[in-house]
Amino acid sequence: MRYECVKAKSLLSKTAEAESWFHYNRHMNSYRGCEHACVYCDGMAEGYHVDNFLTHIRVKENAPEILRKELRKAGHTSQTQLETETLWAFLDEDDAKRLAQKVPRKEVIAVSGGVSDAYQPAEEKYQITRRVLETLLDFGLPVYIMTKSDLVLRDLDLLKEIHEKAFANVVFTITLYDEEEQGIFEPKSSTRSERFEALREIRKAGLFGGVMATPIIPGIGDNIDNMKGLAEEAKRARAEFILWGEMTLKPGRQKDYFLNVIKRRYPDKLELIQRIYQDDHPYGHPIYEHLPVRVMTRGHGICRRVGISDRSVRHKTPHEHEVNNKVLGVVLDIIFRRRYNLSKSWSGTKPFIDLAVGLERGVENLEELRKKGQLAERLHLKQYIVEIVEEIMDRGTCGVLEDLESELDEISSVVMD
Ligand code: SF4
Repeated sequence: MRYECVKAKSLLSKTAEAESWFHYNRHMNSYRGCEHACVYCDGMAEGYHVDNFLTHIRVKENAPEILRKELRKAGHTSQTQLETETLWAFLDEDDAKRLAQKVPRKEVIAVSGGVSDAYQPAEEKYQITRRVLETLLDFGLPVYIMTKSDLVLRDLDLLKEIHEKAFANVVFTITLYDEEEQGIFEPKSSTRSERFEALREIRKAGLFGGVMATPIIPGIGDNIDNMKGLAEEAKRARAEFILWGEMTLKPGRQKDYFLNVIKRRYPDKLELIQRIYQDDHPYGHPIYEHLPVRVMTRGHGICRRVGISDRSVRHKTPHEHEVNNKVLGVVLDIIFRRRYNLSKSWSGTKPFIDLAVGLERGVENLEELRKKGQLAERLHLKQYIVEIVEEIMDRGTCGVLEDLESELDEISSVVMD
């Protein structure tokens, strides 16, 4: 294994709005490359420009400093800055209010960017992720972590502080219940049982936590036994949710590497998997009609039976009006069900995305706007969306979401058998 210390020029992704799946707004990677060496890892794909992804780990040793710089540039204020800038001491009340209004919306920062694990073995020595968490704590920002390693427990002290001050959601990626199978596809991460054990500790400490059951490998992980095993174990570990997702296989390095392992270990599945990914979609999407089962649909049915949510927890900004938060939560559920569970038309989903973006950017109390008859004007809404918003305000849900959920319940009960 080769470790190389490098200087990062930039770190944070652009702000994502109305993100209905993971509920984070920006992500970052402290490392490039990942020693966990998962066979299906899409970080290997040429598009990420990381050669020898599994064996050459670039350590971004200046990540905490770059992060601090980028957060300040985005208008966030750290505790250290507040304490050191004496200007604050001289502000009168009006100035303080004016400045407080200029403080940007709190953004949830994902410390794992998806193409490297923030708690891979290198972290034990370099402690970049720990220093990144210290920085985020200083800024009082909410944190989302996704990992396959129980090394995250080393930072439980910091995560508890972050959670007390803002919010921490720790998500363990767990895709295979059988440990022998898990060892084939995820050879160097913590084992399935170690990850569940770590999740138990996270929940015991009072943090939010759940399972990311993605990617579910078609023909191997999409059977009821595997998926039910994961959901039941998640429930026993007091996870708040389990998120399901299909596998993408980008043409080139990722696909070649994966198919080689399938050829050796699961020769009877090779033809099926080749057929599913035969059109070499640039983003690696499967041909959905060739999948033996839609895992997000089956996963929904399993979650219903086991009694666990298939939707992640969401951070609420302290200054966000309760009613606005309630409407936003339902609207994000509508978006998710339409887009990911039921693949409904984009044109029908778009008005809900626009509404969620408007709510996330921050508007006055919706009750006040409703009283003044300004909902449509202030949020640029068509009349039928105004009616949906008012229904959510009155009932905490709406017919649109209920209809989507019953449609999904019906389909998922079929694919359960
Ligand atoms: S832990 Fe994530 S980033 Fe690392 S090899 Fe596995 S899939 Fe890739």
